[in-house]
Amino acid sequence: MIGVFLDRDGTIGGHGGGIHPADFTLYDFSVKAIKLLNDWEVKVFLFTNQSWIGMGKFTENDLIEGFNTINQSLAKEKATLDGIYYCPHKSTDNCECRKPNPTLLIRAKKEYNLDLNKCYVVGDRLADIYSAKNVGAKGILVETGRGVKSLQEMHSKGIDLKIDFLAKDVLTATHWILKDIDS
Ligand SMILES: [Mg+2]
Ligand SMILES: [Zn+2]
Repeated sequence: MIGVFLDRDGTIGGHGGGIHPADFTLYDFSVKAIKLLNDWEVKVFLFTNQSWIGMGKFTENDLIEGFNTINQSLAKEKATLDGIYYCPHKSTDNCECRKPNPTLLIRAKKEYNLDLNKCYVVGDRLADIYSAKNVGAKGILVETGRGVKSLQEMHSKGIDLKIDFLAKDVLTATHWILKDIDS
C-alpha cells in the first residue's frame, strides 16, 4: 500500500496569526489535493510536529479538536484523511516521534501495511524531507509556508539533501505524485 504523508502547518494550511489549532485554516487547494489522492486509492495521512503542546501553549485536546474541524471541512467535499500522526513533544524532549525521526512513519507502515519505499512525505521544512529519506520514501518540498526559507537555508548552509520534487503547493505536489505512481 502506498501512503502520502502531508505535513500540516505551511503545507495543507496555515494560521492567520496565532498558533492555536482553532486558528488553523486549510488552503483551498488542499481539499482538492486530498480528494485526488483519495480517488487514487492511496492512503493519506496528516503528519505533524506539534511542539507547542510540549511548550504548554495549548493542550492535546485543543489539537484534536482542530483535527476534527479539518476532518469536517474535508468531509463536506468528500475528502478524507486515513490517519493522523503527530508528535506533541518539544525538541529538547529528545523523543523518538518528532520529525525527522522515522518512528511515526514506521508506526503507520505497521498499521496500514505500507511499502515505505513507495510512500511520499510532503512538507515545507527540511525535517519533512529528512523523515522521508530516513525510511526510503520520497520527499517533496512545497514552497508554501516556510518552504522557500527552507530552500534558502539548504543552499546557504550547503546542506546536501535530495529533494525529489520542489512543488509550488500541495496540489502541484499531488499531481506529481500521481504521475510518479503511474510511471
Ligand atoms: Mg510545516
Ligand atoms: Zn515526539
